[in-house]
Amino acid sequence: MSELRKVLGVLGYPITHSLSPLMHSRAIHALGLNYLYLPFEVLPDQLGSAVYGLRALGFRGASVTIPHKEQVMQYLDEIDDDAQLIGAVNTIRVEEGKLQGFNTDGYGFLTSLKEEMGEIPEGKRILLLGAGGAARSLAVHLALAKAKEITIVNRTPSRGEQLASHLQDRIGFFSVSSRPLNHAVLKEYLLRVDIVINSTSVGMKGGGEFPFPYHLLSPDHVVCDIVYTPLETELLKRAKEQHARVLPGLGMLINQGSLAFEIWTGKKFPVEVVRDALTAELAHRQA
Ligand code: NAP
Repeated sequence: MSELRKVLGVLGYPITHSLSPLMHSRAIHALGLNYLYLPFEVLPDQLGSAVYGLRALGFRGASVTIPHKEQVMQYLDEIDDDAQLIGAVNTIRVEEGKLQGFNTDGYGFLTSLKEEMGEIPEGKRILLLGAGGAARSLAVHLALAKAKEITIVNRTPSRGEQLASHLQDRIGFFSVSSRPLNHAVLKEYLLRVDIVINSTSVGMKGGGEFPFPYHLLSPDHVVCDIVYTPLETELLKRAKEQHARVLPGLGMLINQGSLAFEIWTGKKFPVEVVRDALTAELAHRQA
């Protein structure tokens, strides 16, 4: 009898726009693995049943996306240090009947920053726009990677303050402050930071606009956007016009997926195959 296919999936709500099924299916196909990766739309009140179902049905694991990354933690048997520090899980592995949680988002961003820009956070002053789930994983990784200073700016100031306190309390990182997201604050901080990172949903279609003083960007800035639809956001376009160096969000998406894939399969992710597939799909969606 042939060996049963190992099943993976992504749990989210809504899930139709997720690029994870395309990304992982391409990787599975390219490597000729006996795996299957499927999208699952899971309502918040069904999350526990869905997670326990992974184990009951013999799944190898799953990705976890909006809005479940934090709530999922209560259903897992083990959570690795990174995910524990971040307070969110985006990858589940089922290992000998145990549900294990990981978070690969911060790794994905830092790997993209290093590989595509040749930059590391150590010693850098960073302006982080946003204080949501993605910002949390970035902030923790930037702090652990010894950023010199992190300034969090967020539309809802209390959320920015909570994230700053999180870095202080959980990892003893005190070179962090939080400010409201407005033109005056951006103007003040742009002049003194090395790296600007947008981790808000501004830049996505219908995601609103920034009161951003683009003219203050310069060739000394590295400007990163974790939004990947569109591939080149307004922020990146304007930053390029100011001759800043820019990092789009696609690399983070691929690298967080790459680590998850290795956690499940033990195999190296075929990055270039996946990059080509995602670039084509995103161009198609944009057309
Ligand atoms: P989230 O938890 O919902 O947080 C959203 C953030 O965006 C909050 O800081 C929110 O501010 C801010 N925001 C939303 N609309 C805004 C507006 N009109 N003006 C100013 N700020 C606004 O979402 P998330 O999970 O962190 O995801 C954020 C973005 O990152 C999404 O576009 C997502 O697709 C992208 N992402 C990319 C990757 C990747 O691999 N490249 C991975 C994860 C996420 P408030 O606190 O004031 O609401």
